Amino acid sequence: MSKPLLWSLAVLLAGCGTAPNVQPPDCGPDSFGVSRTLEVTPDTGPIVPLLGPKEVILTFDDGPHRSRTVDVLNVLASQCVTATFFVQGNHSRRHPAIVRAIVENGHSVGGHSMTHRNLALLPLEESVKDALDGIAATDSALGEVGATRLFRFPFVASTPELSGVLNGAGLIEIGVTVDGKDWTGNGAGEIVEIIMAGLEAGPGRGTVLLHDPFDHSERATRLLLRRLKEEGYEIVALRVAEDD
Ligand SMILES: [Zn+2]
Repeated sequence: MSKPLLWSLAVLLAGCGTAPNVQPPDCGPDSFGVSRTLEVTPDTGPIVPLLGPKEVILTFDDGPHRSRTVDVLNVLASQCVTATFFVQGNHSRRHPAIVRAIVENGHSVGGHSMTHRNLALLPLEESVKDALDGIAATDSALGEVGATRLFRFPFVASTPELSGVLNGAGLIEIGVTVDGKDWTGNGAGEIVEIIMAGLEAGPGRGTVLLHDPFDHSERATRLLLRRLKEEGYEIVALRVAEDD
C-alpha cells in the first residue's frame, strides 16, 4: 500500500473513531441521580422560570475533546447524572464517535456554532450560516442517533434579530445562569466556589456553565457534583420534546 494511501486511511480511521469507552452509569442508592427531565420546544422561552428552587441543569461547552469529554462523561456516569453538551461543529467533525457517545450515554447535545466566533459581531447572514453549519456538522456526526435542536451562542452573545432567525429555524436557545469561569485559569476548587456563590447570590437555580475540553474539567465536574449534592441541589435533565 502506498504511503499516501496509508496516511489517508489513518486519517479516516482517526476521524471516525472507535466507540469511546464510557463507563455505564452507577445508579446505586448513594448516587446523585437526576430528579426530573425538563422538555423544551422552540416555543418554550427562557427555562430558568421553569425550574424550582435548587434545581440545576449542567451544561458543558466547546467540546468534544478527543479524551477529556469522555473523562467528564465518566464522572457524570459515576453519579448517574446527565448533562447537555454544546459542541462546536468543527470539533464534531473531528470526533464524531464522541458526539454519538454523548447521546448514547443519555446526555443531550446542542449546537455551539461551527467556529466559535462571536456571532453577535458578524453580518446576520454570516452568523446564521456559521450557526447552522455547526448544527449540520454535529447532525452529520450523530447520524441516526439524533438531531441537534438546542443551541447556545458562543460567548452567550446574540442579538434579538439573530436569536429570532435561529428560533424561526427551529432552534432552542439555552442561556447561562451561572458561569463557572473555568476558562480563566482558575483551579477546580475555585471553579466550584464561583458556581456555588453564583447560585446563592442569584436565583438559586438555573443552567450552570462548564467546559469539557480543559485539563481540570474532570476534577471540577467531580467536585461540583459532590458539592451540589451536599448542599441539597437537584440535577434536572434537559431534553427536546418529541414532535407530535
Ligand atoms: Zn463556547
